[in-house]
Amino acid sequence: MNCLMLTAKNHSIPLSDGNRIPIIGLGTYGDPRTTPKGTARECVKLAIDVGYRQFDGALVYFNEHEVGQAIREKITDGTVRREDIFYCGKLWSTFHPPELVRPALERTLKTLQLDYVDLYIIELPMAFKPGDKFYPKDKNGKYIYHETDLCATWEALEACKDAGLTKSLGVSNFNRRQLELILNKPGLKHRPVSNQVECHPYFTQPKLLEFCRQNDIVIVGYSPLGTSRDASWVNLKCPPLLEDEVLVSIGKKYNKSPSQVALRFNVQRGVVVIPKSFNPQRITKNFQIFDFSLTDDEMELIEELNKNIRFVELLMWSDHPEYPFHDDY
Ligand code: NAP
Repeated sequence: MNCLMLTAKNHSIPLSDGNRIPIIGLGTYGDPRTTPKGTARECVKLAIDVGYRQFDGALVYFNEHEVGQAIREKITDGTVRREDIFYCGKLWSTFHPPELVRPALERTLKTLQLDYVDLYIIELPMAFKPGDKFYPKDKNGKYIYHETDLCATWEALEACKDAGLTKSLGVSNFNRRQLELILNKPGLKHRPVSNQVECHPYFTQPKLLEFCRQNDIVIVGYSPLGTSRDASWVNLKCPPLLEDEVLVSIGKKYNKSPSQVALRFNVQRGVVVIPKSFNPQRITKNFQIFDFSLTDDEMELIEELNKNIRFVELLMWSDHPEYPFHDDY
């Protein structure tokens, strides 16, 4: 796939199951405590007008109803058809036991008021105590984990695809070993088409990207702009990505911002990006990445910015037996 050819109107890339994914999508996680109600809805509608066709959401973002409502409103007003939109939903860690998988997806569909999602992914490879308490803790404040059987969860997901509730299946925050667990599962019926992981110029994921390329798995890069730098969950030892001098100076050459350069870098190497913004100007700007391209030298320069430090470390779960980030990749 030559990603240099992608345009604002035509920017989807193939998935291994025959479906396609738009190479840019709008991330929809905003802190529910500080984001006014209705924001996600307005932003998704604007994004569709701007040209975004992919939306990355989750039940645990607490605004999935707004995202669904916005998509439905833009279908009703004739701007798009359902088949033009790509929605990715996520199976949360308290719903890993096979019998809870389909009800969790059905809950997402009911929240969205849509008949299917385009992609449904296991949000984390770590199971928590099953139930409606999304962050179960004991009386000492310690997270309560659950035995994790990723292959059993995957089989339940395969049944959801067969039932037409999702078009494609993927994973998120999986390391190589966890991907291999699924890929080598006896009787595997549907392969994971994507792995959503942190990916940006300060964390370029060279090894995981190569492994995924070899196995026809698309990398979807989350936090492609270097996160919101919210101290409550982001590792702030890593400097602000968008202030990087290399990104700034390359941007000047093309009259582009560091954020547009960071997004273009991933797009040009076939990594899907899902920048989040709830600001109309930034939503619009972040999509303007199809009218310039980076030279091979510039791609290499940006590649060299890799610091191999994660903004999203998930250290509060580092004692979980399936914590994914102890491994090299
Ligand atoms: P991000 O997209 O890298 O950055 C978002 C932050 O950058 C927001 O604070 C946003 O503020 C700001 N921003 C957006 N455009 C900008 C621009 N042009 N210039 C300067 N600042 C800009 O970070 P993220 O939200 O962590 O990741 C994106 C999406 O990935 C999430 O929304 C979610 O859908 C997904 N995600 C998934 C996982 C997972 O475990 N699977 C983990 C993290 C994130 P404004 O809104 O004010 O513009």
